[in-house]
Amino acid sequence: MGASVASVAAPSSSSSAFSIRDFFKSFMLWELAKGMALTGRYAFARKVTVQFPEEKTPLSPRFRGLHALRRYDNGEERCIACKLCEAVCPALAITIESDIRADGSRRTTRYDIDLTKCIFCGFCEESCPVDSIVETHILEYHGEKRGDLYYTKDMLLAVGDRYEPQIAAAKAADAKYR
Ligand code: SF4
Ligand code: SF4
Repeated sequence: MGASVASVAAPSSSSSAFSIRDFFKSFMLWELAKGMALTGRYAFARKVTVQFPEEKTPLSPRFRGLHALRRYDNGEERCIACKLCEAVCPALAITIESDIRADGSRRTTRYDIDLTKCIFCGFCEESCPVDSIVETHILEYHGEKRGDLYYTKDMLLAVGDRYEPQIAAAKAADAKYR
């Protein structure tokens, strides 16, 4: 107890010097000057920000955006309802039901992705043996209520139909690395 009283009563010379330096820095608005110098430096530096959405940054061919279901050139759905994507999905976001068509082929009767569960890991795309389910470069989409982000088979096929050239180009660009 005695030792602590002594240290309070006799402050070291370094702490009083620190206080004087602080006082002058505060008096001269030193921090403000430092801040203004930093602002001035960046005002004339090369800009690294982009004016989104007018300006876009480049995206990797492997970018994982909104999902799509693809078709073959003849219009036939690629998906063969093997359910590998449903099994591999760690978020349990995919729901598939299937049936055998009149021509004997197996096709989905239901293919839903709940994008509010999806973590955009890309496992579904990786697992698909026929490049049916893919993740596009589309990142500007939103929902105003939970149901808006529940994508049905028709919605996913519509995305695929609309963006097939872009999807095919991204697949081709990435093909040599796979
Ligand atoms: S990206 Fe991942 S989390 Fe999303 S649906 Fe595909 S497997 Fe599931
Ligand atoms: S999208 Fe691909 S992995 Fe998923 S059920 Fe269809 S064929 Fe199988």
